[in-house]
Amino acid sequence: VRLTRRGRLLVTLTTVTVLVLLALAVTALLSGRSHPTAARAADRSAVGGSSGRTPSSRSPATAGGSAAPSTPSSPAAPQYSISDPTSIWVVVNKLRPLQPKTYVPADLASVGDGQVMRAPAAGALLSMFAAAESDGLSIHADSGYRSYTYQVSVHDRAAATLGAVAADGASALPGYSEHQTGWAVDVGGDGCDIAVCFGSTPAGRWVAANAWRFGFLVRYPAGEEAITGYEYEPWHIRYVGTELSTRMHDAGVLTLEQEFGLPPAPNYPS
Ligand SMILES: [Zn+2]
Repeated sequence: VRLTRRGRLLVTLTTVTVLVLLALAVTALLSGRSHPTAARAADRSAVGGSSGRTPSSRSPATAGGSAAPSTPSSPAAPQYSISDPTSIWVVVNKLRPLQPKTYVPADLASVGDGQVMRAPAAGALLSMFAAAESDGLSIHADSGYRSYTYQVSVHDRAAATLGAVAADGASALPGYSEHQTGWAVDVGGDGCDIAVCFGSTPAGRWVAANAWRFGFLVRYPAGEEAITGYEYEPWHIRYVGTELSTRMHDAGVLTLEQEFGLPPAPNYPS
């Protein structure tokens, strides 16, 4: 009888031990599972937090770009024309004038301060200004679309004060200005307008860091004069749409010439 009791006790103890071990194992399993769940939740909130700054995704097709008809078989062929002046990817530099040189965009819209740009670029710029403002910075448009005839007068004035050669370095020849596409704008803030000082202001640093999120490039970066043909202009930004600006930002490509494999354009053809 004693042995049987001891035997029962042993069985009971063993059962309790097994149950406790099982409970511990289940608890460990559940707590182990909860960590990756928490991590995923954190990732989601991080994504949600950063997406607050990004403007609503804008299709380049609806952004006024026209499809490139050339060489669809080549994988490197740009999705949109780099020659058609209506295209968001048009490349204008000292070797690539607008065609025709007297081109006038059709859909100009206000960006404030009496300036206009093509409608998709204007919408993106105003979104960028609003985002900067929510970061406590004030940025405004100094000069948007400029017509062929306006550029004639700008260049004539520059030539009169600087001489013809220096004028070519300081202001574009009529028909060669990115401003004439309606996709480019000079911005200013923190008391610095259309001058190199803008690049070292909080507003200028914000533009350099964030313009790509809204589809813009700082078109004439420091150190790329031999490729772009222009001195560093931290105030001159060019709309290309978020698809291209994001790709170039992620790849660290600074100029449209390099992005599209175009020759450097340091000077006008002689
Ligand atoms: Zn400019």
